[in-house]
Amino acid sequence: MQKKKFTKHLLEWFAESHRPLPWKDTKDAYLIWLSEIILQQTRVEQGLPYFERFRERYPSVHDLADAPEDEVMRMWEGLGYYSRARNLHFTAKHIAYDLDGKFPDTHAGIRALKGVGDYTAAAIASFAYDLPHAVVDGNVYRVLSRYFGEETPIDTTQGKKLFAALADELLDKKNPATYNQAIMDFGATHCMPKKPLCASCLMKNNCVAFAENTVHLLPIKSKKMKKITRYFHYLVLNEGGKVWLRKRGPGDIWQNLYDFPIIEKEKTLTLSELEKTNEWLTFFPKKKYHTKKISRPFSQTLTHRKIIAVFVEIDLDEDFDGEKYGFVQVARADFDRYAFPRILNDYLKDDVLELF
Ligand code: SF4
Repeated sequence: MQKKKFTKHLLEWFAESHRPLPWKDTKDAYLIWLSEIILQQTRVEQGLPYFERFRERYPSVHDLADAPEDEVMRMWEGLGYYSRARNLHFTAKHIAYDLDGKFPDTHAGIRALKGVGDYTAAAIASFAYDLPHAVVDGNVYRVLSRYFGEETPIDTTQGKKLFAALADELLDKKNPATYNQAIMDFGATHCMPKKPLCASCLMKNNCVAFAENTVHLLPIKSKKMKKITRYFHYLVLNEGGKVWLRKRGPGDIWQNLYDFPIIEKEKTLTLSELEKTNEWLTFFPKKKYHTKKISRPFSQTLTHRKIIAVFVEIDLDEDFDGEKYGFVQVARADFDRYAFPRILNDYLKDDVLELF
């Protein structure tokens, strides 16, 4: 479901926001290849005038193949990574002379060209021939790791396989060119490494990193991997022997398990600090409650995160409209019908006698 939404929203975003670029409106594999080689390790703004100059001077692969190498290198000057220019020229000759000027039209054929890696092959295959191959590059790693909260390091074999499989699954097979262009543009102009435009993002309601406040930490590289600590303050709202529970929703840990109403903060707060938070004041506008006690901190370690939770036990003196928040009121005797995260079970085992 979340995957379908991703592709749908991405294409919607692209329909509104795509950048008009000269190589986007062509199906000429030569021009697409030319643009992709120029754009390797190069920003679009920097590469664009080079593409225009190359296209004008070498409108066909034969023109490029027949050009003197020195001239090609001069045309490339300022772009850096000069092996790209040499490979470009070498490959142009190979296509012009060995392949009779016919650009390869299969993914394998394109991938076999000198200077063409997995990413470039998928881009050319989809843009020129609508072949269903998903691009995977830094932009794609970043977007997918954030949206799906995927914390497998992207610089490991496992991470590379996982992201490649995920990208393939998400690819709109009927519109691979549009999809690939959309995800590249989205990563480059919206879900950027620094200061992504989350506030105006139409993906934000389904984006795990946005929900968990981990956007700035993703994607993860193995060398930099560090555990994220989250601080939960659980409100154990006791009313006539019953307690309010809530079912955890999508886009966060422990989906579909039950826990208590929660206030999450950047650190563990004292009770008096907690009572001043907006969340607390929203829950208890009339301030009619009787706080029994705050528990010791409990912790649970997950794969890439640590949870620290305290439990605030509260007797309600006013009608608390938990249903307004989607909570359910459950008798303690019925707790065994509900699945809780381990940290709640630890607390209940430790503290159940104090509660009731
Ligand atoms: S909400 Fe932010 S992190 Fe998530 S997809 Fe949108 S821009 Fe990227």
